[in-house]
Amino acid sequence: MDTEGRPVRCAVIGAGMAGILAAIQLAGAGITDVTLFEKSDGVGGTWRENTYPGLACDVPSHLYAYSFALTPEWSHRYAPGPEIRAYLEDVARRHGVLDRIRFGDAVTECIFADGRWHLGTEAGHRDEADVVLAATGVLHHPRAPDIAGLDSFGGSLFHSARWDHDVPLDGARVGIVGTGSTAVQIVSSIVGRVRRLSLFQRTAQWIMPQENPAYTDVERDALRDDPERLAATHQELSDLFDLFANAVVDPDSPEIAWVEKACLENLEKNVHDPELREKLRPDYRAACKRLVISPDFYSAIQNPRADLVTEAIDRVVPDGVRTVDGTVHPLDVLVLATGFQVDSFMRPMRIVGSDGADLARAWDPRPTAYLSVSVPDFPNFFMLNGPNGPIGNFSLIEVAELQCRYIIQLIDRIRRGECRTLCATRVALAHFERERELAARNTVWATGCRSWYLDDRGIPAGWPWSFVRFRDAMRAPDPAAFVCR
Ligand code: NAP
Repeated sequence: MDTEGRPVRCAVIGAGMAGILAAIQLAGAGITDVTLFEKSDGVGGTWRENTYPGLACDVPSHLYAYSFALTPEWSHRYAPGPEIRAYLEDVARRHGVLDRIRFGDAVTECIFADGRWHLGTEAGHRDEADVVLAATGVLHHPRAPDIAGLDSFGGSLFHSARWDHDVPLDGARVGIVGTGSTAVQIVSSIVGRVRRLSLFQRTAQWIMPQENPAYTDVERDALRDDPERLAATHQELSDLFDLFANAVVDPDSPEIAWVEKACLENLEKNVHDPELREKLRPDYRAACKRLVISPDFYSAIQNPRADLVTEAIDRVVPDGVRTVDGTVHPLDVLVLATGFQVDSFMRPMRIVGSDGADLARAWDPRPTAYLSVSVPDFPNFFMLNGPNGPIGNFSLIEVAELQCRYIIQLIDRIRRGECRTLCATRVALAHFERERELAARNTVWATGCRSWYLDDRGIPAGWPWSFVRFRDAMRAPDPAAFVCR
């Protein structure tokens, strides 16, 4: 039961990083009637789903952590994926979140009727809530590439986010389609184990070199003994990444120039064969796509077992991949590191708001949300890391923390009895979207490359302003931007 005001029951969809966070922040605000619905049997979201070799977070671990659960225990500057998953499990356990999760209960519909949300799950359960928080993630639905003949492949084929650990890699001929952050981590991790690695590159990437040293016991002890130093480490990294996030929206910023120079130096210095170097040289601005961070990709791709294939893929054949020059690259395993359908969000869940408003229609042709958290006609339905929010080379945890605090301020208005329901006005969304789109056209993401940052029109879909501006926007809701009923 709530400790203050009108009781509010919350349903949180998803027990990944953002869902766990929501449960903890809601409890901290005195909102304890909270149920989390999690489709799988574990917490961790993307860190549970992705298990590919080399999985790590390329945001420093002391930044990629909840501000209220900093830990001195990270093994490396950029911790491996299983360690991050264990961290999320540990935080969920210590904060009593696990007891509130209904595992294996995928929400399939949320219907708003009689002032409440009515939830239905795949397992046939029904529930009701005053408020729904969708914490379903962005990089969630694997994207299968439009390559002919995938079904005809005679070896093992899987998406990077559905890694099949029963398939042996040692001594195998492995093909990887894609050169994003995922593919680069896989290549570096497995090149020493396989017989032959063929990396099918459609677009070269700018690679930012970042070493990943292990923390020593002495370093960990120092942080264990000094919580202030731990907090300061988090803050310093946050300030540094703010700088990057602020700069990345301006293609002419000195920071972008610095990033371009560092990536170019990495290429020139560390790729020795001039022909390979030219194949790996991107023809667009650094940071136009999400910057790939790797200390060892260039050395991995120069391993004699590795083959960078830049001829376009014609089709997959039973024996491997045929490129347009007619060459068949024989493979035992084919990994699709081809990214995610980033505009799906909660869909295909059926979400029906007031007066029969259907989210599928509201989001046709593309998803939008006021300040990334609220959609008109969907009262008391809020999102963490929803459409149009900040995305990039920084911690999505801080984004979700700020959004959650903002949403709790809205819920507090319900608890105080000011309104029973709240959602953004159409005018507020239209104004936000108009301004956002204008600004998005001037970001580095719009300087001429293909990436998952772009919407169906080729316009960046994310937050196009500085992170400082995002923080300001999340400080307090503007009452005029919400319909309060
Ligand atoms: P991605 O960045 O979307 O990259 C997909 C890759 O697949 C691209 O290289 C793309 O080529 C290629 N591709 C797609 N369809 C293709 C086709 N039909 N033929 C040939 N190539 C095709 O996906 P991702 O690498 O999984 O990364 C997604 C995001 O996840 C990252 O940007 C990042 O935000 C996050 N991530 C983060 C970390 C981390 O350490 N924090 C690690 C992994 C992933 P084009 O470039 O030509 O489109």
